[in-house]
Amino acid sequence: MVKRVFGPVPSRRLGQSLGIDPVPLKTCNWNCVYCQLGRTNPFVTERQYFFKNEAILAQIRESLASHKAGDIDWVTFVGSGETTLHAGLGEMIREVKSMTDIPVAVITNGSLLYMPEVRRELYPVDAVLPSLDAGNQDLYHKINRPHPSLTFDRLISGLVAFRKEYKNNLWIEVMLVQGLNVSEAALREIADQLEQIQPDEVHIVQPTRPPVEMWVKPPDETGLLRAQAVLGKVAKLLLPAMGTFEFGSEDDLVEAIVGIITRHPIQETELVDSLKKWSPQDVKETLNDLKNSGKAQVITRYGARFWSASEAYYPDNRPETE
Ligand code: SF4
Repeated sequence: MVKRVFGPVPSRRLGQSLGIDPVPLKTCNWNCVYCQLGRTNPFVTERQYFFKNEAILAQIRESLASHKAGDIDWVTFVGSGETTLHAGLGEMIREVKSMTDIPVAVITNGSLLYMPEVRRELYPVDAVLPSLDAGNQDLYHKINRPHPSLTFDRLISGLVAFRKEYKNNLWIEVMLVQGLNVSEAALREIADQLEQIQPDEVHIVQPTRPPVEMWVKPPDETGLLRAQAVLGKVAKLLLPAMGTFEFGSEDDLVEAIVGIITRHPIQETELVDSLKKWSPQDVKETLNDLKNSGKAQVITRYGARFWSASEAYYPDNRPETE
């Protein structure tokens, strides 16, 4: 199995974050236009065990033991899809909390928070970061393109219920997409929903990684400023992650590259910078080998080439002829 634990990597919100990925690429009940994991095909709506918890926990133990105090700021559940679809999430959270004092976060689309058992499983973590990109059903369908069973009312009622029960940090992420949710009206509707939910913070983010749909664009400056103004005093603008990725614990170049490109598309120069243990030539040759053996693909977004795992589904991507 591809390693389910990665990093620590610099995160916009969580400093040096040790990532735990409990679901395989791509396991999701939404199909967001800005997703960096390709299209959702097919939808997964039932919670299930994708991996044995013990196998992932062994990797977490090993990773925590190989880093010194201060290297890791957060242990973060962040999936190749939707984290809460893993049926063993609650049990894994309890185990991680018992093995370390490092704070634990869960990144989720929030779609399953309408289920009381999912809400309960998240109680022990220090921060939960759900998404809310739309203030009405129509935009929710346009941006997040959820499975039909997941209505907008369910999303909002789940978030409101969770807020009432959850005592730690609830940080809601609003992804801004030019032409969709940056108008005054769209932002006001999101603000109305946020007022009901009462999160501790609102994190405004933008699609800085290559989105699955080629037409998706980050907001222009006016849209960004409007979002800051409308989403109110709690809104906090977070800039894209700075610094290099740290994948030093990998001994095998193929494993290191597959681990990175499975989580998000990345430009070759960034990859070379991240993998300083190996020469740029070795990284380039390995990428080409992976492409030739069908394990990696090149996608083009924002006029640049990005490497991605071949399992990520980009139906509008034309194969490179070079
Ligand atoms: S962005 Fe997250 S919630 Fe949306 S489709 Fe991708 S993995 Fe699913």
